[in-house]
Parts: sequence; C-alpha cells; structure tokens
Amino acid sequence: MEVLGILFDDKVRLKEIGLHTKCNDSILTYLAFGDDLLIFFDGAHSSANSIKVCFELFTELTGLEVKHNKSKLYCSEVNDNTKIAISDALGIGMGSLPVKYLGLPLLSSGLIKGDCQQLIERLIGRIYSWQNRLEQHFKYDSTIFLSAPVSNILVNSLWSIYQHLKNMLGREITEEIESTCINRHEADLVIWTPSQDGVYKVASTYEALRDKIDKVDWFELCWGDMASPRSKFTTFKALKGALAIGDKMVQMNIVQVAYCTICGQLGENGPHLFMECILAAEC
Ligand SMILES: [Zn+2]
Repeated sequence: MEVLGILFDDKVRLKEIGLHTKCNDSILTYLAFGDDLLIFFDGAHSSANSIKVCFELFTELTGLEVKHNKSKLYCSEVNDNTKIAISDALGIGMGSLPVKYLGLPLLSSGLIKGDCQQLIERLIGRIYSWQNRLEQHFKYDSTIFLSAPVSNILVNSLWSIYQHLKNMLGREITEEIESTCINRHEADLVIWTPSQDGVYKVASTYEALRDKIDKVDWFELCWGDMASPRSKFTTFKALKGALAIGDKMVQMNIVQVAYCTICGQLGENGPHLFMECILAAEC
C-alpha cells in the first residue's frame, strides 16, 4: 500500500489529484486496514481519472488489482453528472451512507450505544456459546449450578449433604466427604482439578475444554521442529482446507469463481497452489 501512497502523493504534488477539503491539513489521500482501502479526494472528475492512472500503475508494479465489484463510491455535495463521470472513470458503483465497516458504522461523529448494538448482540451471542460449553464441564448437580462452594453442604461447620447429592455422588464418595475432618481455623484450599498440581493454568483449562481426537498421521509433518511457527500454522490450515484461497472463497460466497492469481488457471485450490501451479512446480 505504501507504493500506492507514493503514487497518490506524486499526483497530489502535481495537482492532478485534489485533496478532500477535510484532508488538506493532514494531506491525507488514503487509509489502509489489512487489504481494505479508503481513498479521499476532492470529488473532481479529473482527480478520479488520475486515481485510475495510479491504480493501473499500481497493478503493473505489484500485480494487485482493485476489486471493482467489492468497492463503492461515496460522494457529498457533488452533482449527479460528476458522480456518474467519476463512477464511470473508476469503474466503481455508487454506495449509500451510512456504511458499515467491521460491523460498525463509519461516522464523522462519535459512536453512540445504538450504533454498537448489533455488534454487542453478536458478541453476547458468542459469549453465550462459550458459556454453554463451560457449563458442560462445570455443572455439579441440578441444584448447585456453576457456583458450588463447599459452604453449600456445611451447616454450623458440620457436613450436611443433600440427599439427592448423596444419591448422585454415591455412598463411597459421600462417606469420604463426611469422614473429612473440618478445621474451622484453617483457610479453604482452592484446587484446580484440571491441573496435576492443583494450580490454575490457562493451558490446563484449554485441555479441559477442547475436544480431543486421536493424533493424526500428519502431526509431525505439521508440528515438527523444523519449520517456523508461521509456516506450521499455514501448513495446518492448508491440511485442514482452511486457507482463504480460491475454492474456500467460492465456498464462502466471497467470489463467484476462483482463478489462480499466479498462473490464471480456473479453480484455485490447495493442491494446485502448493504442488501443481507453475511457481510451486519450480520449487
Ligand atoms: Zn496457478
């Protein structure tokens, strides 16, 4: 993106791209986040033509192209004829405000609670799904739910275990609890049972919560010591078919068809990209 920034800066210096009125002081032409790009200009047809020239040069230099079907043009105080001319010059359709980015509306003012409501609801939904998973592991009985302090089965410093709990625990465990001497002068000891040493650790919690399956044949290939963590993770995603490459993008309805960006062949997928493509075949 720095390359595109340099191209824009050149055009601004030559006055071929006019700055947006709110960007004059900062001489801001674009903001980039990941592979998303926001471009600001003065709404002149001539500026749009120069931006198009920058895009073409950028594609020549980097091979990266503007996704016209995923891009939108937003104008303010620009007459309809100019809007159409800019839209045609850039090959980008008109969008309507407000626009959302990463689930939140892009506003010139600060966000209010209502703006964030949808995102909050999604986050709460995500938290509940985790809570459900946690409850499966930390449900004690039908009465003592999630919170099960020992004090619940103590009355006047003596054991008092509910009958239904005795039935659930069985006679052996119940007798062991009741035979345990209560020392009122010592503080309770908290033991984290998923850890062998009884001390809370995130790793032991993860182990307690995660679904466990048998070790797969490709475990060493993926997680052996020879590669960098980044390569290991990419290999893992490739083996699980989770890399965001062509076939996955089609499956997720992000693109309609998937062409290999290296050789242009239709149907980019893992085997093609890592073994069959011209670049992979040279390695
Ligand atoms: Zn290819």
